[in-house]
Amino acid sequence: MTPTRSAVRLSDGRELIYFDESPDSGRAGFPDTRQLPPPPPASQLRHDPLTDEWIAVAAHRNTRTFLPPSDACPLCPSSDRFASEIPAPDYDVVVFENQFPSFSDRIVPDEITQVTDLVPVRPGLGRCEVVCFTSDHDAAFGSLPPARVRTVVDALADRTAELSGLPGVAQVFPFENRGVEIGVTLHHPHGQIYAYPTVTPKTAAYLRAAARHAERTGGRNLYADVLAAEQEAKVRVIAANEHWTAYVPAAARWPFEVHLAPHRHVPDLPALTDAERDAFGPIYLDLLRRFDGLFGKPMPYISAWHQAVVGEGRELGYLHLQLFSIRRAADKLKYLAGSESAMGAFVNDIVPEAAAQRLRDI
Ligand SMILES: [Zn+2]
Repeated sequence: MTPTRSAVRLSDGRELIYFDESPDSGRAGFPDTRQLPPPPPASQLRHDPLTDEWIAVAAHRNTRTFLPPSDACPLCPSSDRFASEIPAPDYDVVVFENQFPSFSDRIVPDEITQVTDLVPVRPGLGRCEVVCFTSDHDAAFGSLPPARVRTVVDALADRTAELSGLPGVAQVFPFENRGVEIGVTLHHPHGQIYAYPTVTPKTAAYLRAAARHAERTGGRNLYADVLAAEQEAKVRVIAANEHWTAYVPAAARWPFEVHLAPHRHVPDLPALTDAERDAFGPIYLDLLRRFDGLFGKPMPYISAWHQAVVGEGRELGYLHLQLFSIRRAADKLKYLAGSESAMGAFVNDIVPEAAAQRLRDI
């Protein structure tokens, strides 16, 4: 069932949208009782001439909320004692504009100063949103029922469609960071959506490779061919159902990394059918259970939706989820040190086929 959608404005003008699993929840009737100051202006983007990459500079983000106590959680529903970001006393899934965004539409032209002729500067136009998966502060994504995962997918599809249509947005990226080891600043189960004004470096590299592949093969899709090869090889496949396959990439960068891809070539979440959305929850929850089972404790992870870009190169995209952890042993994390951080050259300590075997055995 498609969730019921109701949008409200917070006291500083930011938009908040409830996605409810039952019709007419009445959530939109609760006003934000806080007197919030105006949200900060957009960041600026500076172009690094040495790497041809855009870097977002957002000074205001240094003041954001850091690991608050649970009775002052900004992502819990509001109560008589504490007014949070969510005015209603309960919710299923809720999405709102980030109070401390890396990108927004609040441009202050005077603040965009020139640096040097070699470093173009442009406003960090775009939007950053927070997605709360449940009102239960102590839950985890992996403990949600499949029906709630479906609601989350519907909410992400809704946001992808809307954000893709905003002026200047080049790419929409939904993701979840889980665990303080990853740098999470709020324990409440939540994800984020970045609507970028530029194509990200990782996606730009994929588009170059995919364009070369299409040229070499008479128009074949690179990701579709990689997925077909993994399904054929089987050795790195962890799980599959009628609509999705999960596998460890042959050249995985991270100790434990899985791609989860739909069998049908679709550009983004809005293009998924009802059947594909329903089939996603069970296999993704199974993957999260396997991740947590690796070392018998909650696995820190990054869960990243790769979607087609909005403009040029859109036909080269292929929706897939990348799930990976920085934990390489029960008491060891992988840090991005010299080779990875300075050179962008990854060294993986775990052979992908061995990682796949371990994940299959759980
Ligand atoms: Zn909370």
